[in-house]
Amino acid sequence: MEGALTAQDKVGVQDFVLLDAYTSESAFLDNLRKRFSENLIYTYIGTLLVSVNPYQELGIYTLSQMELYQGVSFFELPPHVYAIADNAYRMMCSELNNHFILISGESGAGKTEASKKILQYFAVTCPMTESLQRARDRLLFSNPVLEAFGNAKTLRNDNSSRFGKYMDIQFDFKGIPVGGHIISYLIEKSRVVYQNQGERNFHIFYQLLEGGEEELLAYLGLERDPQLYKYLSQGRCAKEPCVNDKNDWKTVSNAFSVIDFTKDDLENLFGIIASVLHLGNICFEENQQGCASVPDTHEIKWIAKLLGVHPWVLLEALTHRKIEAKTEEVICPLTLELSACARDAMAKAVYGRTFTWLVNKINSSLVNKDFTGKTVIGLLDIYGFEVFDKNGFEQFCINYCNEKLQQLLIERTLKAEQAEYEMEGIEWEPIQYFNNKIICDLVEERHKGIISILDEECIRPGPATDLSFLERLEEKVGKHAHFETRKLAGPKGRKKIGWMEFRLFHYAGEVTYCTRGFLEKNNDLLYRHLKEVLCRSKNRILKECFLVAELENRRRAPTVGTQFKNSLSSLLEILISKEPSYIRCIKPNERKEPSKFDNFLIRHQVKYLGLMEHLRVRRAGFAYRRKYEYFLQRYKSLCPDTWPHWRGPPAEGVERLIKYIGYKPEEYKLGRTKIFIRFPRTLFATEDAFEF
Ligand code: ATP
Ligand code: MG
Repeated sequence: MEGALTAQDKVGVQDFVLLDAYTSESAFLDNLRKRFSENLIYTYIGTLLVSVNPYQELGIYTLSQMELYQGVSFFELPPHVYAIADNAYRMMCSELNNHFILISGESGAGKTEASKKILQYFAVTCPMTESLQRARDRLLFSNPVLEAFGNAKTLRNDNSSRFGKYMDIQFDFKGIPVGGHIISYLIEKSRVVYQNQGERNFHIFYQLLEGGEEELLAYLGLERDPQLYKYLSQGRCAKEPCVNDKNDWKTVSNAFSVIDFTKDDLENLFGIIASVLHLGNICFEENQQGCASVPDTHEIKWIAKLLGVHPWVLLEALTHRKIEAKTEEVICPLTLELSACARDAMAKAVYGRTFTWLVNKINSSLVNKDFTGKTVIGLLDIYGFEVFDKNGFEQFCINYCNEKLQQLLIERTLKAEQAEYEMEGIEWEPIQYFNNKIICDLVEERHKGIISILDEECIRPGPATDLSFLERLEEKVGKHAHFETRKLAGPKGRKKIGWMEFRLFHYAGEVTYCTRGFLEKNNDLLYRHLKEVLCRSKNRILKECFLVAELENRRRAPTVGTQFKNSLSSLLEILISKEPSYIRCIKPNERKEPSKFDNFLIRHQVKYLGLMEHLRVRRAGFAYRRKYEYFLQRYKSLCPDTWPHWRGPPAEGVERLIKYIGYKPEEYKLGRTKIFIRFPRTLFATEDAFEF
């Protein structure tokens, strides 16, 4: 016993619920640190998995590890991402219901790696038939393609996902993975035209230049050196030693062939990618009338060839704007600045829609119509809460997304848990938690929420600006308890809010947003003139992305904020009907270094991930519950009264059984149909007894 304690002292406890000083944040951090220093990166809070990025290969994802976790009860082995995957899988197979695994955490915390490990786990451990191997391979190979187009090197992560991703893995009734479906959220289009110092554009551009065959580059009119392209070199790290673009190009090319992309698809696709690069290199000059002109049309000609548009029409669309007067269209020249904006808007629109096309195309390769009555496990790899020194429209959307996911957690865990206790007639002290619905409403409520107010500003005739938007916010939600603008003297210790800023009191903490750029980003306008050019393009992919019907439809497309709100609401609908598992990823330090545990940084994440709150609920509740029949079936051999057969009601059998093995009254409760066990350690002990 003493030995066991010493070991625990050294390596910490594998479930935070077992901590003695469970409510203290420092005890929590201490446990995390102890485990991290022993390379134990995983710890549970009940069934939630906390993972700390080791920034090194630990040898814990081997085939034998996968085999170890297969079909083994959750608490019998040390915490692992495989245990989460296996648990969801086994529950799905035995109860024929759908599951999802939500992976969250800040950039670089290890979300994408975790989701890849889970996918690999299924690919290796699930039963397989020869005919379904291709389906499995497509699932696996969709990843490198999506990462090439949707990930980029940022200051925080060399392979940062710049979009949210939800992937359903579909299984047949034998538990064989047969297909899948992917939904993407809010790709960061602005990266196509601008990158901060030390950051890069999406990987695919560099991979194409570094790895693409000579003939391909010649066909696309591209040079090999990425530094020759404006859209690739603003971050001043086009050549990046930590990324192997040449090798990655090979992986991506191979993946394309597995997921059924034809030569024609690829020609069209890379025609677009190359066009974006050519677009970025178009330089405008001011002519005598003070309007934009293009002195060198070399790039225009390449784009025209690759996209199948007329060069002069394209040139005109980049330097002029069509304005609809009463009976006719008037063509007005653009200034230098507006032409550059039009060019960048075109690059962003083309890339953004091509990304959506890519996801759809991958989906058509993953779909498996032969299987009906499938069950699914959904993997959600989505941006965590973001709080930077300067927070803009993107952070606003991302943090709103996290509010919605917290709502889901509340609905599924806190509320559902309390409802179950009630149903089972279990007495329990309701625990207080903050229901963040009030913040979700503040953001999304129709006509009254921040997104609606923003949309109204975007369509309001007259000169709406980021400042007038702020004034409107102040007028309409200024008195809301979770909102604040321009209060220059806030309560003690609170940072001042500057001009053009508003503050939201999120469930995870307060964040100050600068409204600069909100209107433009929400509008995401592409001049009609350019849209016409793209709709008439002969490039097959662009044709699918820019439908002529869009030109005829005079109704405004929904704004970015509203689209995002709608897609989140569909996501929540998808998730709410499924059984949840949670993985919370933590980044140990900002330097991407192994074995470095930055207490300050981690404390911050523990707070923003809501881990202490989760622990509190877990502690107050019951870690484990099982129907009497199942519990008895598993442990009946531990008691002479119930072994080998118990003929009475299962509830009575369980009562005898736990009396015999010595459960203390505070350790459990008996409900109408289930036994509830408060701490996992009670169950560990039962499992141990069961083994000997
Ligand atoms: P983002 O939000 O920027 O996409 P992320 O949470 O998806 O970030 P990952 O890309 O999964 O972060 O991880 C960042 C890097 O950390 C990986 O490229 C890898 O080098 C390392 N890493 C993450 N998880 C692990 C792990 N379990 N074992 C070893 N290294 C890891
Ligand atoms: Mg990622």
